[in-house]
Amino acid sequence: MKNCIFCKITKKEIPSEIYYEDEHALAFLDIDPVNVGHTLVIPKKHFETIDQMDKVELDKLSEAILKISKGIMNIADGLNVMQNNKEIAGQAVSHVHFHLIPRYKDDGYKFNWKRDDKVTKEENKEFLNKMESFLK
Ligand code: AMP
Ligand code: ZN
Repeated sequence: MKNCIFCKITKKEIPSEIYYEDEHALAFLDIDPVNVGHTLVIPKKHFETIDQMDKVELDKLSEAILKISKGIMNIADGLNVMQNNKEIAGQAVSHVHFHLIPRYKDDGYKFNWKRDDKVTKEENKEFLNKMESFLK
């Protein structure tokens, strides 16, 4: 993908703190980290969102995510794994990436998730019906 910043990182066309690389995946430090060691794990191949990935690529990416997760869990006190799809969900870079955010005791960071207490049983039922049809 020509104008994709993460494709450029993959091709080493722009500098980045890549610290893990295999045939299918890369891990590098986020340029604007939440915490020390905030890492992005990406597939080398360009996919905009996770649902566009094929099983083989996601399996390979999972191997890298697991490897980096083990490293972070060895270094830090905890770990958040996040992955955003589409602008509405907070995706700023349209190349699939997993955020692996090390957590440290007393780091004070809190995800600001607004819980919707207005979700009704009917809405849940409608969602589950749609999902059931999709998964058939
Ligand atoms: P998201 O909002 O999930 O799309 O996250 C995109 C992330 O990419 C943000 O946390 C940015 O700080 C990070 N980012 C953007 N450009 C770069 C770059 N050139 N090198 C490393 N991280 C980047
Ligand atoms: Zn890309």
